[in-house]
Amino acid sequence: NQKIAGPKDFDLDLIRAPSDPGTYEHANATIVALVRNSEAIGIGRTIRKFERSFNGKFKYPYTFINDEPFSDKFKKKMQSYSDAPMEFITIPRELWDRPESIDAKKQDELMQIMEDHDVGYAKMLSYHNMCRFYLGNFYLLPELQKYRYYWRIEPNVDFYTDIKYDVFKYMEAKKRIYGFTINLYDIDRSVETLWPETLKFLNKGDNYKYVNKNGAFQWLLDDLQNPRNAKTANGYSTCHFWSNFEIGDMNFFRSEAYMEWFKHLDSTGKFYYERWGDAPVHSIGLALFADKKDIHWFRDIGYSHDPYLNCPHSDDTSGCKTGLLGQWEHLLDQNCMANWIDYSMEDTIGIY
Ligand code: GDP
Ligand code: MN
Repeated sequence: NQKIAGPKDFDLDLIRAPSDPGTYEHANATIVALVRNSEAIGIGRTIRKFERSFNGKFKYPYTFINDEPFSDKFKKKMQSYSDAPMEFITIPRELWDRPESIDAKKQDELMQIMEDHDVGYAKMLSYHNMCRFYLGNFYLLPELQKYRYYWRIEPNVDFYTDIKYDVFKYMEAKKRIYGFTINLYDIDRSVETLWPETLKFLNKGDNYKYVNKNGAFQWLLDDLQNPRNAKTANGYSTCHFWSNFEIGDMNFFRSEAYMEWFKHLDSTGKFYYERWGDAPVHSIGLALFADKKDIHWFRDIGYSHDPYLNCPHSDDTSGCKTGLLGQWEHLLDQNCMANWIDYSMEDTIGIY
């Protein structure tokens, strides 16, 4: 069926939606949502749309994660949105909390300065915890060890495409490590020393051995096409995969290369003394340690998280307006997808 949205270089017979999800042989994967009890309505909205778009057909299990125990009310509500299996996890405190080694007073002072420069969430401790958690300890949660692939969802996001193929099986068959929908520039001040700290790590011992010779280096560092003429963050373009949507292979994030680098970043304390977002950190790790051809733009999946969107022009997509990143003119200069296409898709663009 030519009208199926999705990658054309793939055997669609293998990935057609199953007639009986009960006996279907799933990929080793879970849908992941880190949420608070208070976000039940927002994540419920997401799940209803996600079920309609993808998971109603495939019934991959959900894993809900929280730094506090989920209430019975929350669990019941989630179960009313989908009959897919669900697991509810409380993060052990030591995997979530700010480490003792962080100087709280120093953090407060530095974050006041950031806030004065309009860096969002700078003064919110839980946001720093969340970013650090998603980058490291998330992959080490005992309940996630049985899985290889995850698809991250968030409250109040939207899905516009009827996805007719098993996205996880696509990842597996094509040996993809990471899938994204949106590419954005970040606030350079929030990640000011992220790249210099990364260079320090690479220059230690024989750490250069971790760098993939086919990494997305130009995308990571080059700023030639930056339309807003913004500063790079000490060499990093700030272009990143927007991480509220991500489909990832945890074997990569559990690898020595990624984890050793993450440990170095964590040892600097700058998840608290700066406001490193999980998206730019993930993006640098991927650009350095993965082969760029294993990073996949799911341009066929209509998706939005306020205020940006990816809206494909396809028969299977409805409810969004096709266009670059959305209809808000003043936001368009945040888009760096052109860099990804130019610098990282030249080898693969022929197959789309
Ligand atoms: P933004 O997209 O950068 O504005 O950040 P969000 O507020 O959407 O947070 C990202 C994700 O982490 C969302 O899924 C939130 O529900 C979740 N999250 C953020 N902070 C916390 C927290 O303190 N506890 C829990 N359980 N989830 C959180
Ligand atoms: Mn969000």
